[in-house]
This record gives sequence, C-alpha cells and structure tokens, in this order.
Amino acid sequence: MKKLFVVGIGPGGGKGLTREAEAALDAAEVFCGYPVYIGLLRPMWPDTPALTTPMTRELERCHMALESASKGRTTAMVCSGDAGVYGMAGPVLELSPRYPEVEVEVLPGVTAALGGAALLGAPLMNDFAVVSLSDLLTPWETIEKRLRGAALADFSVCLYNPVSRRRAGHLRRACEILLESKSPETVCGWVKKIGREGQEHRLCTLKELSGEPVDMFTTVFVGNSSTRAVGGRMVTPRGYETK
Ligand code: SAH
Repeated sequence: MKKLFVVGIGPGGGKGLTREAEAALDAAEVFCGYPVYIGLLRPMWPDTPALTTPMTRELERCHMALESASKGRTTAMVCSGDAGVYGMAGPVLELSPRYPEVEVEVLPGVTAALGGAALLGAPLMNDFAVVSLSDLLTPWETIEKRLRGAALADFSVCLYNPVSRRRAGHLRRACEILLESKSPETVCGWVKKIGREGQEHRLCTLKELSGEPVDMFTTVFVGNSSTRAVGGRMVTPRGYETK
C-alpha cells in the first residue's frame, strides 16, 4: 500500500517529537510542508528531499503530498504542533478519496496549547476552549460568538493566531469581548516561539493583555474565574483544594 503520513512535529520539532512521529519521519522518503517546519527537522534529517510550497498554497501542498505518495514514495506531510489542530490532516483526508491507492495515516503531535500550558504552569487544568482569531477561513462574527460563549461558560480560553498579517486589532477586540463577562483581573499568559530559539513567556491580567507584545508565533492563555498566579506560574485549580 502507498503511504502518506500526516505528522504533527510539536511546536518546535526536535525534542518535542513523539517516538511514532520520529519513526514515520525515518520511514519517509520525501517530506512535504511549509519550509520553516522542514527547517526544524533538518538537524535530524539533513538529507530527506522536501517538497515545499509557500504558506498560502495549502491545498496545492496537500495534492503534492498525495501525488508523491501515489507514485510509490513513502511521504510525510509535516505540520507544526498537531496536524489535526488548524493543520493539514483535515484537508488531506478531504482530498484523499481522489487517491484511493494512498493510505493516509495521521500521527498526533503536541499542539501549541499543550506545549505553552506546560511552560506557563497548569492553566488548562479544568475545562477549556481553543479559539483561533484568524478570520481567513472563519467569519469574524463566528469567532466573536465563540469567544462570547466560552467566556460566558467560564472556560479557560486558549487563543491561536492572535495577530494576523492582514488585519490588526484582533486581540484587542477579543479582549473587549472576553471582558464583557470576565473580570479585568483574570490571570492570563502568553508564550512565544515554544520550543524554538527566542522562546519567551509572561503572565499578565486580562486588562493588560491587549497591550502585550504578542505576535503570530504566540499562543495566548486566558484563565477561568478560579485561575491564580502561584509563584509566577499560571494555575487553574483542579478542585482538590476545596473538596
Ligand atoms: N497545528 C498547530 C497550530 C497552527 S495555527 C498546532 O497544533 O500547534 C498557528 C498558531 O499556532 C500560531 O499563530 C500560534 O498561535 C500557535 N503556535 C504554533 N506554533 C507555536 C509555537 N512554536 N509557539 C507559540 N505558538 C505557536
């Protein structure tokens, strides 16, 4: 059977790879993916040939990977974090019926929410929601509705794509919506370049969040009403403490 692995490599690649992701990348004769992610793998796989396309050519990249596998070359489509979280697993599987000879196997990776949470402490200890602020594929009205719902239900909220290249002010607007029902003192945090050179993180409050130096390589965490700063770490109580 012709094989296409869709592999999440963790936020930084390298030591954040799972053992099975590593085995799939060893088995792959060709990598396919955005050049930055392929670059993260180069120290471990300097010689595996790579098919790359620019950032915005996602579907082209999926076809490229499926075609490569259909020619009989074991191929690994590489995604940062987890391939099933704002990644390529969905589009690859949607296109895969056109390539019935290719078997697609999706391998999980550590998504930015989990990598960043561990660096900050334990902000996602209880129920949480993940919202991407990118309105490239989701209408902004839908994003606002989801933020409002998450805040009203007192989820901890993890924000991906907090800043977009095309439209400024997404994070500021998101903070305004969260502040409709959350306290301005809500404990928040952000993590930049998880697992990569230049990694940085900081705690702040919800009223400070929109002024923080957040960019497109940052994941943002907004606590629930019980989240506390404990010795510089962001902790959402699990509940044992009050039982
Ligand atoms: N599939 C990826 C998410 C891709 S969406 C995953 O599972 O992690 C891109 C967004 O993910 C970025 O805007 C940022 O919010 C987050 N992200 C991805 N890698 C990151 C990293 N190394 N450090 C911090 N945030 C990251």
